[in-house]
Amino acid sequence: LPQVCFIGRSNVGKSSLIRALFSLSPEVEVRVSKTPGHTKKMNFFKVGKYFTLVDMPGYGYRAPKDFVEMVEAYLQERHNLKRTFLLVDGVVGIQKTDQIAVEMLEEFGIPYVMVLTKIDRASKGLLLKNVLKIQEFVKEKTQGCFPQLFLVSSVEFSGVHLLRCFVAHVTGNLPTVEAS
Ligand code: GDP
Repeated sequence: LPQVCFIGRSNVGKSSLIRALFSLSPEVEVRVSKTPGHTKKMNFFKVGKYFTLVDMPGYGYRAPKDFVEMVEAYLQERHNLKRTFLLVDGVVGIQKTDQIAVEMLEEFGIPYVMVLTKIDRASKGLLLKNVLKIQEFVKEKTQGCFPQLFLVSSVEFSGVHLLRCFVAHVTGNLPTVEAS
């Protein structure tokens, strides 16, 4: 099955977003399994016969290095990994640890997308400031990052439908009809 994986700092809103994504599609059966033998586990959400969403352990303020070691093997093997979703807190914007995650993805040459979370918690002005800063960062400092930033709130469900469509697209679940 094609895979997508979600990474981000602890508390960025990753589990809430995954829940929000799936609660909008109750018709699809989701099965969760864990990687055996890992202390900080990755969760695998098998979504029907369509794709698997891999939930990576959240990285901490002081432990980005541990995180890299933990997920390195997975990311380097990355069988069928179609896209990685890097979650960034919409209230505080890109932090040092997020930059380390970006460096890791760039180094491995993995295509990824940035998702700005908790946008309901940021004022319009702050949100705009963070969005502009991230767009600038993506343009200047990255190669593998998709240029469009996804803005989501798992509380208000804003942006969640669009993200679902994007996941469906990158996992090959929105086939286009061939023109004859
Ligand atoms: P994780 O550690 O990345 O899995 O983060 P969680 O999903 O557990 O969320 C961390 C905290 O942020 C919790 O208190 C959530 O209720 C809160 N949170 C997550 N997403 C949102 C959101 O979209 N809006 C708001 N206002 N709070 C959120």
